[in-house]
Amino acid sequence: MPQASKNTPLKARDYKSDYKPVWCPGCGDFAVLSAITKALAFQELPREDVALITGIGCSSRIAAYTSVYGFHGVHGRALALAGGLKAARPDLTVLVAGGDGDGLSIGGNHFIHACRRNMDMTYIIMDNEVYGMTKGQASPTTDPDWERSKLTPGGTGIRPFNPAAMALTSGASFIARGFTGDPNGLAKILVEAIEHPGFSFVQALSPCKTFRPEQMEWKKHIRAFGDEPTDDASLAAERVYADDGMSTGIIYRRSFPVYQPAGSGDAGPERFDREFAI
Ligand code: SF4
Ligand code: MG
Repeated sequence: MPQASKNTPLKARDYKSDYKPVWCPGCGDFAVLSAITKALAFQELPREDVALITGIGCSSRIAAYTSVYGFHGVHGRALALAGGLKAARPDLTVLVAGGDGDGLSIGGNHFIHACRRNMDMTYIIMDNEVYGMTKGQASPTTDPDWERSKLTPGGTGIRPFNPAAMALTSGASFIARGFTGDPNGLAKILVEAIEHPGFSFVQALSPCKTFRPEQMEWKKHIRAFGDEPTDDASLAAERVYADDGMSTGIIYRRSFPVYQPAGSGDAGPERFDREFAI
């Protein structure tokens, strides 16, 4: 890993580790890695002041590919781990990342409560509408008529979640959507998400070239929302429901009290000495 001097600003590449990603060539997750590292470099955040917590899945491998502190957790529990870390170390910039299966299926309950709890962290769902690591099963964002999975011949027949709508109705204070075909645009969104005080949710449309090759056509349909972010939840809901899921940008941003539990930051050895004193 490159050693940066205190006087030399870190570049995006300095936030990458020496591990070579094992993602398939063409996977959208490469661009999320690029966007995260660009955002951290733009904000000149010291690597030791940042932690990236992930769940399980192709996209959750991303923690190992950065040079900030990381924790590759268990399936669906990244937000629980991140909440504990933020409670203990409120001084850290906490990023959380994972896939649509990890975050909206087994981790769905953590997601809705993290939205309403509003701890100061940024959650990126790398959404490819499929379970990639387990070789192509339908996820909570898969369209009902997607037929290529042997587990659900003829499609699931179940309407998918709308992640932005879930975040809105669960009380998230920052909601945005980016696209991996535009890593610079995604990096700009991440900068704003990280700077936002409270829980920031970013849905990153990230094609799975291997199991959803048709998603390579997404770039033809992506467009900007075209409206300034609103702090009006009703207006945000109108925009989210009128959209086909292919519009990108910051949808909603509002100031709510940031939750930080009592005793936060008091996680040093002295506390354990105190609590467990006989
Ligand atoms: Fe990316 Fe899909 Fe390959 Fe997983 S299976 S690394 S999501 S292209
Ligand atoms: Mg997925």
